[in-house]
Amino acid sequence: MDSGRRQFLGRCGFVVTGAAVPFALPRGMLQQAHARPDAGASVVMERQAGVGHERFMRLAVEEARKNPKWPFGAVIVHTRTGEILGSGVNTGTDSPLLHGEVVAMNDYVRRQGNQGWADATLYTTGEPCSMCMSAMAWANLRRVVWASSIDDIRSTGIIQIDLTARQVADAASSFYTPQLLLGGVLADHTNRLFREAQRLRESLPDAPGVTYG
Ligand SMILES: [Zn+2]
Repeated sequence: MDSGRRQFLGRCGFVVTGAAVPFALPRGMLQQAHARPDAGASVVMERQAGVGHERFMRLAVEEARKNPKWPFGAVIVHTRTGEILGSGVNTGTDSPLLHGEVVAMNDYVRRQGNQGWADATLYTTGEPCSMCMSAMAWANLRRVVWASSIDDIRSTGIIQIDLTARQVADAASSFYTPQLLLGGVLADHTNRLFREAQRLRESLPDAPGVTYG
């Protein structure tokens, strides 16, 4: 994939379909999707991919608001039923491992046990970092939707490892095949949230040496 196309996909997100799309998408969107062959799979371009994604992203934003200085929130839902299976917010003051996605995955395990990941979709206010995306690959959590991109987050003064979620998933392709990697859902909203958080951090600095990405 050339860099220009990767950048475009990275900004808009895309779906590699191998199974049913869980939420009702406009008919035209699906037709467009299946008309785009890519590496043997049907590739679906989605923008704001339907009410279902936005509804669950709003729940991730609710989680994020619990940590207004570092608003990384995540929810994990059952892909077909929409049942909430786990949720969490970044608690980096407790441990550098506790990014929102990891907290939500730990909550999922507490509630569901370490099973059923392939039937789940994770929604997160920020594009997963390489640690969190790797955790999803290890879990075989194949559907991931985020709002703000890594570049959006970095622009608000938060350090980021320079790997996109897609690049991490590609690097795990020997054992991990995502069905959905979709960015940009409610990004206008979460980008504002991250900018508000930046102002808050500037007025109320954290203790040195703590990172939250
Ligand atoms: Zn992370």
